[in-house]
This record gives sequence, C-alpha cells and structure tokens, in this order.
Amino acid sequence: MCGIVGYVGSKPALDVVIEGLARLEYRGYDSAGVAILADGGLATAKRAGKLVNLRQALEEEPAPEGTAGMGHTRWATHGPPNDRNAHPHVDCSGRIAVIHNGIIENFASLRAELAERGHTLSSDTDTEAVAHLLEEELREVGALTEAMRRVCRRLEGAFTLVAVYADDPDVVVGARRNSPLVVGVGDGENFLASDVAAFIAHTRDAIELGQDQVVELRREGVTVTDFDGKPAEVREYHVDWDVTAAEKGGYDYFMLKEIAEQPRAVADTLLGRIGTDGRLSLDEMRISDEQLREIDKIIIIAAGTSYHAGLIAKYAIEHWAGVPCEVELASEFRYRDPILTRTTLVVAISQSGESMDTLMAVRHAREQHARVLGVCNVNGSTLPRECDGVLYTHAGPEIGVAATKTFLTQLVAVYLIALYLAQVRGTKWGDEVFAMVQLLATMPEKVEKVLETMDPVRELARSLADEHCVLFLGRHVGFPVALEGALKLKELAYMHAEGFAAGELKHGPIALIEDGLPVVVVVPPRARAVLHDKIVSNIQEIRARGARTIVIAEDGDDSVEPYSDMVIRVPAVPTLLQPLVATVPLQVFSCELATAKGHDVDQPRNLAKSVTVE
Ligand code: GLU
Repeated sequence: MCGIVGYVGSKPALDVVIEGLARLEYRGYDSAGVAILADGGLATAKRAGKLVNLRQALEEEPAPEGTAGMGHTRWATHGPPNDRNAHPHVDCSGRIAVIHNGIIENFASLRAELAERGHTLSSDTDTEAVAHLLEEELREVGALTEAMRRVCRRLEGAFTLVAVYADDPDVVVGARRNSPLVVGVGDGENFLASDVAAFIAHTRDAIELGQDQVVELRREGVTVTDFDGKPAEVREYHVDWDVTAAEKGGYDYFMLKEIAEQPRAVADTLLGRIGTDGRLSLDEMRISDEQLREIDKIIIIAAGTSYHAGLIAKYAIEHWAGVPCEVELASEFRYRDPILTRTTLVVAISQSGESMDTLMAVRHAREQHARVLGVCNVNGSTLPRECDGVLYTHAGPEIGVAATKTFLTQLVAVYLIALYLAQVRGTKWGDEVFAMVQLLATMPEKVEKVLETMDPVRELARSLADEHCVLFLGRHVGFPVALEGALKLKELAYMHAEGFAAGELKHGPIALIEDGLPVVVVVPPRARAVLHDKIVSNIQEIRARGARTIVIAEDGDDSVEPYSDMVIRVPAVPTLLQPLVATVPLQVFSCELATAKGHDVDQPRNLAKSVTVE
C-alpha cells in the first residue's frame, strides 16, 4: 500500500516524481503529494483524492523547479483521507518533509511527547511524528541521514520513510523496516521507490534494500547502512521487463490488458522448468531433494486471491505428492499456536512479496524451524529474501488492483511444486509427472480459447449490472474458484457476492436463494462423475427455488443444459487443472459488470495493491 518515489539527479524532479507516482497509483489513491527541494527551501503540494487532483493543483500553482524531491500516494490508516493528512508531512520549521508507508505503532506516545515539548502537530497521522523527531535529531547531528537512523531506532511497527531537508538539498534519505523500498541506479541520477515500476522508464538497474536499512541518495551514488550506521551489503539486480509492460498498451484498463496477457503469463511461468527428459527443475528452490523427502506436513499461508490459489494447491499437493496439506489465512496463522517442526514445509504465496500478514507468518514459521518456500511475482521483494527457497511466477508487473494474471500463474507455480514433490518423493512415476506437465504446457492455448469466447459473458455481465447479489458455487477445486469469482465481484463491482462449497448449500446458504437470484456454478469435468453428478443435482435444487443459474461447464457437457439459464463453455481439462480455465470467465464477468456500473476497475474503492500493513 502507498506509493513512494524519491529522486536526485539533473532532470526536473517534479516531472520524474509525478510520472513515478502515476505508475504507482495502484498502491493507494486516497491522496497524493510532493516535496521539491528548490531555491534553498522546500516546496510541498498535496491534495486529497487521486493523483489528478494534485496535478490540477500544480497547474494552478506551479511548484518551483528543483532536481531533488519526493512524492507519495496514500492509503490512509491514521486519519481520514483529506488534504491535511496527505503526505508529505513537515516539521515546525517547514524545512524537513517526510513521506511514509506503513504504520508507526508507538505513534500515540511519540505525538504526546512531541506536543509536550512544544511541537505543533497539524495532522492526525502517525507519520507526522517522524518529521518532528527528525527536527529534534537534526538540531543535534546536523545531517539528515544520521538523524533518520536515530529516529528509526525509536520507531515501532512497519515503515518505509523518505525524507528531505532544505539545508541538505542534494540528498534524499530513505529507510525501511518491513515495508518495501527499492533503489533505482541511474547515470548521474538515482531513485527510490516502493516498486521498480516508478523508475523503470529511466533505469532497469535496481538495488534491493534489506530490513532495517537506511539509504542516502545523492546524484553521484547511494550509500546503504543499517540503523546503527554500519555499511550494509546490498543485492543489485536488473529488472527483466521494460516500461511497456507497465503501460496500458491500448486497453482502457490495466485489468483488461492483464486478463488478455494470461496465456503468455502462464507460458512464461512454465518456461525453463520442464527438462527435455520431462523432469521438472525448479531453479531457485534452494531446499534440497533430501530435505523435501523428509517433509511430513505442508502448510500454505496466503491472503486474498493468493489464499484461493493456496486452497487449490492443497488438492494438487495431496493428490499428486501425498503429503498432508493445510491452508491458512496469513493473518490468522501466527496468532494461534501452529504446530511446526523441521519437517514442516511452509509455502507462502504473495504476488508482491510484501504482504505484511504473509511476511509476519513466514517469520513466525522460520522461528519454529520450518522450511519456507515462497511463491512470488516480484524480484527484489522481501518474501524471496526471507524464504529458504522461492518459485517466481513470471506474470510481469500487475498494475490492476484486482489480481488476475498473477492468480493463474500462482496456480501454475503450485502445480509445479506439487508435481516436483511427486517427482522427488516418488509418489508418481516419472512418466505420470511428465504426462501432467505436458498437459500443463497446453494450458496457455486453452486459456486463449476461453478468452476468444467471452462476448456472451460480457453481455451477461452488463445485463446483471443492477443486481444486488450474486452467489458462486463449486465443488473440489471449483470451490476456491467460486470464492475467487465472488471476491472479484466484491472488489470491482462492490456487490454482495459469496462463494460456497456446493455441498454446504443445504446446511444454510440455500435460504438465500430467491426468485431470479443469479447463481454461478462451476461444474467439474464429467470425468469426475461423482463430483459432476452431485453438482448437477445442486443446480436442480437451486433452480427449483427460483435461482437464475449460470453454469460454467466443459465443452460437450450437455447434462447441465436443461437446468441452466446460461452455459459458459470452457475447454475440457483434467479436474485439478480446471481452475486455470474456469476462473477466466469470472474475471471477465466482474470486470465487465463493474465497468457497466461506471467503476474504475484498476483502482477499486478502499483497496490498494499489496497490503503492506497488518
Ligand atoms: N500510516 C500513514 C497514514 O495513514 C501512511 C499510510 C500509507 O502507507 O499510505 O498516513
């Protein structure tokens, strides 16, 4: 959550910062603000609402020209999203400005102390305390970087901070604990950002910052230390996608582009992982085959859409690899007493690699000596650094707030993990693993086929724009697909939507069925006859009670026709792989329904991509 950009170089800082914020706006859009170092002083501008409001304000009252500065898009945690609480926040002198991502948990006592010492705090935020603490420390030490280290040592919670000081006009200082911050290394210019997308148009060379580090950014270079001032080791890397990947490319919304990119994203995630001999090799697994053979329990931790990928993983892991597998919401995991040992494998799934709940759960798991494997889409993020091994999804940057292509690639990743475990542990013959891998390799073209037939789904979505509630049903892996379909509709169309396991219906939810209620049902392949026939009965049960049934069924499955108001066809694939094709119509459905209601599907209300606070 929250987008942060910092810049020192020779270009107009305001342009670089605003361009960077535009690329990061998906991280938060409650307000936006900038601070520019110019003419021996510090100019700030900030406005509630989306970036467009700030741009307009800057047109009416242009900021002075300067070549160092920073900007922020907020996802409010402390204080309503108004002009006053927008970042940057300044100290009493107005010569120090701070932007922040995260939550400073001891903010109340810090604010009280500061007020007692005579500071005037003019916002409701936790962030503002930092500006005043820097003011006090700067009186003592004179240099912004050292003042930042001293302040960080006093803070509790999660934060990325970036600060500028009018007396030190060639320096931008950043600090991080738990929240994301990356450095972009340019030629005579350097960048700080919460995500490489902010500076990818200028440089693809990046430095990953570690936990509890402070970075001093100057035109001629960057210096990284820990909070005590000791030089820190940093990892440099090259971003393997270019700026076109972070642009809409002719689509009205990023989400539409990202839905369309799914065949490629699925193919890229498989790329290089299937050997010519049919054996899988997972390059950054870093957990030895020996250790994987010792595993006696798997716990998957994730949140949101990633959690749904985790639920599907459970079916695949237990079926192919024969290891007991639990799936847990990351936010719940460490607050109970999970039983973990050296022979437990924790699989942590997070698109951004920065989901705070997931990171905290990973740390808890490692403290209990479990081995942890991350599934993540962002190189240079925190999760891969904190896990024993990692499996990257190669979806490319996802800018739309609602996850689409990253979900499909997470599915591919968990299938690969399940099959790799089957290969290593010998629970499937080599040729069985190879046969499944070959089927996986055909999925990009199957997803493409689904995408080609989406016009009736779009039409259906538009016809349902005035509905208040849609239910989703599924069985087996179709159940998490139903959950994902409901989540997409909540996120994008702000409608009441629920996903249920179809077998649970008669235990309560069937009471919700009333005349004309749209119910989307994911029907398992006919090859799983028991499952398939049970869900056909469930369709009849809800139809008998007036539901309008919208059925997702495989090509050639005529048995559902008599009970369906509409059938959405997907290619026939093995049951475990069906989520890869069955989810796509649900993404298209929600996206179209939300746009029919006039919503911005890239920036749904109250949400932000990458939940970096607990
Ligand atoms: N806690 C800070 C605030 O509410 C920062 C929020 C953010 O990460 O955008 O302003």
